[in-house]
Amino acid sequence: MKTKPNAAASPDCLFCKIVDGTIPASRVYEDELSIGFPDINPQAPTHLLIIPKQHIASTAKALAEDTALMGHLMAAAAEIARKESLDDGYRIVVNTGDDGGQTVHHLHLHLLGGRHMKWPPG
Ligand code: 5GP
Ligand code: ZN
Repeated sequence: MKTKPNAAASPDCLFCKIVDGTIPASRVYEDELSIGFPDINPQAPTHLLIIPKQHIASTAKALAEDTALMGHLMAAAAEIARKESLDDGYRIVVNTGDDGGQTVHHLHLHLLGGRHMKWPPG
């Protein structure tokens, strides 16, 4: 992994605008490092996005110093899943790059639940 620091915010980034409040989102979760909010185009009865407040474009662009933050996002997703009573299970997805289907270039976890998930994904 590279060690050059990530920028704190990216001016044209949709999710940075959600973090700073320029674009509204209903925060179901917030801590010092991350927020969680509903996906605008839900693919399951529960479909939330968990993002770092700091701009990181994708897992592919994450730096060695972001390792703890990425673990934090996973733990936040598990905490939200407990709060949302996803007791029968859920899926966490991190689309990365064009082949991964990533459309918003600010690292995010999809937390999907409330229905049975198929495998393999499309
Ligand atoms: P990706 O395709 O990059 O993995 O996921 C981006 C997600 O962001 C998509 O599921 C899309 O529906 C969601 N999204 C795009 N624009 C907005 C928005 O303005 N607000 C919210 N809450 N979600 C958005
Ligand atoms: Zn951003």
